Amino acid sequence: MTIEQERATGELADEVRAWLAANWHGTDDADWRRRVVEAGWAAPTWPRDAFGRGLSRADAKTVAAEFAAVGAPGAAVETRAFTALAGNTIVEFGSPELKRDILPKLLSGELTRGCLLYSEPGNGSDLAGLQTRAERDGDVFVVNGQKIWTTGGHEAQFALLLARTNWDVPKHAGISFFIIPMDLPGIEVRPIKQMTGESDFNEVFLTDVRIPAGTLVGELNDGWRVLQTALKEERRTMGFELGARAQGEGGRAPIFTASDDLIEAARAAGKLGDEAVRQNIMRIHSWRLVNDWNAVRAKKEIEAGGGSSLASLGKLANSRILHESWALKFRLIGARGMLYDPADKAAYEVDHQMMWSFINSIGGGTDQIQRNIISERILGLPKGYEPDRGVPFRDVRKGGTARPDGK
Ligand SMILES: Cc1cc2nc3c(=O)[nH]c(=O)nc-3n(C[C@H](O)[C@H](O)[C@H](O)COP(=O)(O)OP(=O)(O)OC[C@H]3O[C@@H](n4cnc5c(N)ncnc54)[C@H](O)[C@@H]3O)c2cc1C
Repeated sequence: MTIEQERATGELADEVRAWLAANWHGTDDADWRRRVVEAGWAAPTWPRDAFGRGLSRADAKTVAAEFAAVGAPGAAVETRAFTALAGNTIVEFGSPELKRDILPKLLSGELTRGCLLYSEPGNGSDLAGLQTRAERDGDVFVVNGQKIWTTGGHEAQFALLLARTNWDVPKHAGISFFIIPMDLPGIEVRPIKQMTGESDFNEVFLTDVRIPAGTLVGELNDGWRVLQTALKEERRTMGFELGARAQGEGGRAPIFTASDDLIEAARAAGKLGDEAVRQNIMRIHSWRLVNDWNAVRAKKEIEAGGGSSLASLGKLANSRILHESWALKFRLIGARGMLYDPADKAAYEVDHQMMWSFINSIGGGTDQIQRNIISERILGLPKGYEPDRGVPFRDVRKGGTARPDGK
């Protein structure tokens, strides 16, 4: 860090401290959250026209540290799950009205529960082949279609929706991106039961749903480009576990803490001396370290405005890490793991997490799709054959469904 940067950080800390002294009176209520948002402390890294201050990540940490020092909540929340996903997409593509209406609600915690209305029964990996339609009718779009695998749809306050707005152009060129409330008439949410026994995701049916035209994010028919920002956020969070490990725990270097969980599992099973187990731990340990290093590269690239290709690498790598880590813990816990009995907390957790780890290989684009992206965008290999390339979507054959013109 240069002396100028150190000085700037010092000035910033002074400014935050002075602001807190004048504004924080120990009560976390709606009025407090509004003031934090309006002052730009809730999203220090966002630009000023988006309730931010245009600061670096390092400066945002300074802001967060000053808030934490006096026990004041609500600072630097722009990196949190759905706030980051929906927020960054609106910051980059949203109209001034959308920014004004949605961003303060995301940052103050008024809107926290979102869902993604992307996948459809016939179109998951081939997302650009989606057939949910949005047709303009005066001040609204009328939406009809079906979505599936909608995580959190049953409790969501709002959704990011992809719908087709032009059928006469190739598939990627006729899609629009919307952010809509989930309580509109015509939206029906039906839970799906998972192999874990839970119901986190849903089918969502949209029938003549009238959404205000102002919910469009970006330009009409430019939704595929908008989606790339949202996907980048999703893959980044699914790909890299940098954070606790990179900081190290208990003052130890991150390289030593990276596999404490596996070592503990082996010790608990009395298998710490088992050669095969030790080799397995070391193999997973090295994958984790490499992924952490890639995370540092990806972070730098994303901060410099780069694309999502490294995030795909991280997401793919993390799938293998999660599967192998939980499979190892499952083997270590022995036959107890097969009972899936909540009364046996430790075994239940391992079995549950082993099943749950498959989400990383499917949600946000499958492992195979990440490999396609890596081969094309990182390795520079040629694109695979695409029979529908350049064909107006209306004329593309659609698996098992009638064409929209009924032919
Ligand atoms: C836990 C979970 C949560 C999810 N949450 C959401 C959500 O909130 N919102 C949402 O919209 N969706 C969500 N999804 C859906 C997810 O994005 C899709 O399941 C995923 O994109 C795969 O699509 P699909 O299921 O239609 O499989 P398909 O596309 O039918 O793929 C089937 C198989 O074929 C392979 N394949 C397909 N095309 C290719 C290709 N071109 N090259 C190589 N292999 C290929 C795939 O890798 C896969 O193995 C979720 C999924 C899961 C498992």
